[in-house]
Amino acid sequence: MPVETDTRIRDFGTRVRLYPQAPFLSGFGEAEVVWLSPAAGTVQAGPSDDRMYVVDPVEKADPYEYPYMPPYKGESFPPVEPGPDGHFDHYPADSREFVAVHVYGSLRRVLDIFESYVGDAIPWQFRETYEKLELIPLIGWENAQSGYGFMEFGHARDDAGSYQPYGLNFDIIGHELGHALLFSVMGLPLEGHWSAEFGAFHEANADIVSLLSVMHFDTVLDRLLHASHGNIYTLNEINRIAELSETRQIRIASNSRKMSEVTTEVHDLSRPMTGAIFDFIAYAYVEEIARRGLIGSDLREATLTAHVRMQDAEGIQANFDKAYNNRHFQFKAALMEARDIVGTRLTSAWKQMSPTDLTYSDVATMLIDVDRQISGDRYQEELREIFHWREIYEDPGPVKI
Ligand SMILES: [Zn+2]
Repeated sequence: MPVETDTRIRDFGTRVRLYPQAPFLSGFGEAEVVWLSPAAGTVQAGPSDDRMYVVDPVEKADPYEYPYMPPYKGESFPPVEPGPDGHFDHYPADSREFVAVHVYGSLRRVLDIFESYVGDAIPWQFRETYEKLELIPLIGWENAQSGYGFMEFGHARDDAGSYQPYGLNFDIIGHELGHALLFSVMGLPLEGHWSAEFGAFHEANADIVSLLSVMHFDTVLDRLLHASHGNIYTLNEINRIAELSETRQIRIASNSRKMSEVTTEVHDLSRPMTGAIFDFIAYAYVEEIARRGLIGSDLREATLTAHVRMQDAEGIQANFDKAYNNRHFQFKAALMEARDIVGTRLTSAWKQMSPTDLTYSDVATMLIDVDRQISGDRYQEELREIFHWREIYEDPGPVKI
């Protein structure tokens, strides 16, 4: 979401508190205040708004499974009420109400972010049947699922044997909504034409939706930059930095898998695509910090040139240490810009691709084309190279000397 849009929402929006990362996964013990686009006072008890509502069953014995489908009609806890000012950020983190607000707030936040990229409302795929998405925040089930018109969340059991609600896991919520949004915009392939790479793109896309969304938390951006001193391009080479592995989205996306290194299993097959889109974020970021004069052309060149990076990783890091010193907020602005560059191109590609017999090569070609329409030649050469390196895209274009 463009920073100006996000700032504007703070003037009128509804406040919730969200964990960037499930609190039991360490590192992010504090929930962060987040503003949602519905104006304060317009979100009803539930929480409930024009797109989704929470219903919290007292005892939902079974998860939904066709023909058992929403709406939930059994006994439920009273709808969670807003505070007197219309916000929902006043519930203690260990309360049942907090989980309900967290599920609603996370979903609404990811929807806000992606509607801002699309530049319009993204209607639900199930709108013919249901007006709103039903959210079940906590049931006695060791799993979570999203389906036609609903999402419901159980709990995991941690190593110490205590139950941890999946509804507090922004990563899972973002991933599930990533699937739902892609189904909404792109639709389904014609019968019998659901390709393996369509399924894998769905997984990659869900992971990237979750990643781009978590990159809207100040705490996540701050940690990432502090830990790397702004040297994000070499993330998959510097995974020794412990703090980075705490953010699951970043750990998954900064992989170095090529097509020849993965199986046809859908999650495995998704990795080269997820990695390529992450590379695009990292690359756009390097171009942004160079364009803004935060690093010189020598450091830009060294960072982007593989053999130099291998030979002089420490020298590059030392130069980043120097460049980053006292410039955290400038680096952060560049990273937000890179995030939004990729978010707008990805969603623009959603709108133009056919799901039928989709191949990775179609996705790469569309992302490259969409990018050319938006930013001309600026990223073209590197973007081709990124997909070529992943063995997704055949034509690397003119070779860099
Ligand atoms: Zn998935």
